[in-house]
Amino acid sequence: MDFKDSIRVIPDFPQPGISFKDITTLLKDGEAYRAAIDELKALVAHLQIDVIAGPEARGFVIGAPLAYALGVGFVPIRKSGKLPYDTIEVGYDLEYGKDTLAVHTDAVKPGQNVLIADDLLATGGTIATSVSLVEQLGGNVVGAAFLIELTQLAGRNKLSGIEVHSLLTYE
Ligand code: 5GP
Repeated sequence: MDFKDSIRVIPDFPQPGISFKDITTLLKDGEAYRAAIDELKALVAHLQIDVIAGPEARGFVIGAPLAYALGVGFVPIRKSGKLPYDTIEVGYDLEYGKDTLAVHTDAVKPGQNVLIADDLLATGGTIATSVSLVEQLGGNVVGAAFLIELTQLAGRNKLSGIEVHSLLTYE
């Protein structure tokens, strides 16, 4: 299946010069959504995965069905202040400004193998922060899986030593 046919590209969103990859058009197409998760599953099938972690919000719509398909658990990584139990937090720089991601302190057990999943890899800031959270809990990040990778932004360079898998690439 050519998944690019299911992705809508919106010029100048959320700001001029950005070409936004809108995955909602893929998500609403049951056949394409299922095929995308099945193909991601095949890409990571060789890894020993105990749990999948995904950053809100689009990391949930990729990570959770992938976890279900693999029969492993799912750990939500959320913006600061959203999770109800004890958390650790890591701040990171956005293109404009800063943000903070958080995870429950008991979300990953030391030594567990973790796959990190998100819809899209751009600069890699979101995923590098997610890796840092998982590693602070003692988790072992064995890979990262994405629907889309924007190759020009070279986000995978921030993930050295981690296997990066993506279904689709855009320049
Ligand atoms: P990064 O931290 O790698 O620069 O940006 C990736 C994060 O921003 C992901 O969590 C992703 O959801 C969001 N993001 C950035 N650009 C796009 C885009 O063009 N389309 C979508 N769907 N998400 C994007």
